[in-house]
Amino acid sequence: MKIAIISDIHGNLEALTAAFRVIETKGIKTVYCLGDIVGYGANPGECIDLLLRHNARTVVGNHDRALFDKHILMCFNRNAKHAIEWTHQQLTEAQKNCLESLPYVLTEGDSTFVHASPLRPEEWDYLMSERDAIAAFPAFSTPLCWIGHTHVPDVFTENAQNQVLERGRRFIVNVGSIGQPRDHDSRLSFCIFDTDDWSMEHIREEYDIASARKKIIDAGLPRWLGDRLVNGS
Ligand code: ZN
Repeated sequence: MKIAIISDIHGNLEALTAAFRVIETKGIKTVYCLGDIVGYGANPGECIDLLLRHNARTVVGNHDRALFDKHILMCFNRNAKHAIEWTHQQLTEAQKNCLESLPYVLTEGDSTFVHASPLRPEEWDYLMSERDAIAAFPAFSTPLCWIGHTHVPDVFTENAQNQVLERGRRFIVNVGSIGQPRDHDSRLSFCIFDTDDWSMEHIREEYDIASARKKIIDAGLPRWLGDRLVNGS
C-alpha cells in the first residue's frame, strides 16, 4: 500500500491543495501529516478542514501546540509569535479543539510518525545531523521514523551511509515542508512510501506561491513570511 507523508503545512492552502492534487492523481488514499498545520500562512483553518476531509492521520507540531502553550510561544521569534496570535483569532473552537487533541507520536506498521524528533518529542529538538540521528534511533522501535520540523528533506541511516531505504536497516526520513520549504528550493516537498516493497518517492511540486504570498501580506502578517516562500529559505 502506498502512503503519503506530509509535514509543516503552515497555513499554506495553495501548497496543501497542490500536494493533494499529486496524492489523488497517484490514487493514494492514506495520508499522514507530521504537524505544524498552522502558523506563518494565511489559511490555517482551511488547511485543518482539508486535512480532516482527507482523513489525514496527524501528529502535533510546535506551532500547533503554541496556540495552547505560552512556554512554546515565548521561545518563538517575533514573526512566528505574530502569526500564532493572528491564527488564534482566525480558528473556530472546533478547529482549535482538533489541534489540541492531536497526539505527539503515532506508530503504525513499520513506521513511527513524529513532528520533530522521536527523542523527547515534546521538546521540539531539531534533528539535523548524523549525531542528532544517532541519539534518536534508540528512542523508537520501528525500522522507520518519519519527521519534519526543520523544513529540510533528508535521510538518516543507522550504521550506514546508504540513503536508499532497504529492509534490515533503520532510517529516519525528514519529508521536508509543504507550506514553507527552507532548502533553497521553493517547491513543496513530501514523500510517498510503499509499505510493501519499501520504495520511496520524494515529491517536489510547484504551487501558486504568488497567491499564498499575497494572502499573507493582505492579512497584515509580516511581509517576510510571504517573501521567504519565493526563494524557499
Ligand atoms: Zn514547521
